[in-house]
Amino acid sequence: MFMKAAFLNAIKEPLVLRDVPSRQPHDDEVVLRQTLTGICYRDILTRDGFFPRVKLPIIPGHEISGVIEETGDSVHDFKVGQRVASLIYAPCGKCEFCLRGDENLCPNKQTYGEHLDGAYAERIVVKASSLIAVPDGVHDADASLAACVTGMLYNAIGRVGGLKEGQRILISGAGGGVGVHAIQIAKALGGYVIAKTSSPWKSESLLKLGADEVITSDNFDREIKGRFSDGVHLALETVGLPTFERTLRSLRTGGKMVVVGNVDPEPVPLPLGLIILKGNTISGSISSTKKDVEKALDLTARGKIHAFSGRTISLEEVNTAFNDMENRKSLGRILIDVTR
Ligand SMILES: [Zn+2]
Ligand SMILES: [Zn+2]
Repeated sequence: MFMKAAFLNAIKEPLVLRDVPSRQPHDDEVVLRQTLTGICYRDILTRDGFFPRVKLPIIPGHEISGVIEETGDSVHDFKVGQRVASLIYAPCGKCEFCLRGDENLCPNKQTYGEHLDGAYAERIVVKASSLIAVPDGVHDADASLAACVTGMLYNAIGRVGGLKEGQRILISGAGGGVGVHAIQIAKALGGYVIAKTSSPWKSESLLKLGADEVITSDNFDREIKGRFSDGVHLALETVGLPTFERTLRSLRTGGKMVVVGNVDPEPVPLPLGLIILKGNTISGSISSTKKDVEKALDLTARGKIHAFSGRTISLEEVNTAFNDMENRKSLGRILIDVTR
């Protein structure tokens, strides 16, 4: 059977659409028929060569959900016709991290869209070890964003950040595809949410999503310290270099910053006084485990969070969408309807 797919053939080149035969599953794999998949900033970084281990040519994309069309011979936990979401990677299942349920840290994991063909296609072959069942009432968009976005944020804000009810949380890049979901997760966990965006036209949407305050000024650390003399308990850094230092300066004594995104590979300035004298912590947080994805899907099924997409495009428009994201012209996640 043939399917439409977008391919990255060479670094820094636009993606190219092709009709290709869909691959048969190996023993431990399933074939998913997809409808919606998300475009992640990581896909742009992949195109631009920031991940040297990418295997070319490759079908990009790792925000995966769908209905199982076919299962490999050794797959017994999932059935044809079942709706599932996938981790953004295939864990090895054998290392110390996989064995203790921290498979997001697996050093042997293979990422869809980088090492394994990804989601910019009508069908995708996924390892059964990456799959999570999707509860009834969860839309395809929510299922596709559960691993890379909402589950990742549950991990970053809830588990790594340890946000407690009533604590203040600053979210940088709040109008981006990650930020708009971070606002919702932080609210669902009981936080007081301060959303930072450099695009004032996004403010109203961010307040509607649940942000308690929106800050648009470049000196947002001073504004926060002016409003709350001791700063925020937790900061989620979704941007990286352009906001990093001011995000760190927004923390109260003993505060914590969790870094989940970086749009620029250059090193960031790190004033050590803020770490030593104020006892601040900086943690990285990567992706999500199956438990995080289950939590995110549960919050979705209970109506606490929902996928926020500015627009849905066809595979033909993917290069234009990349440009819009680079120029910050998009609000929320851009989704691809692979059936169009
Ligand atoms: Zn992603
Ligand atoms: Zn592992």
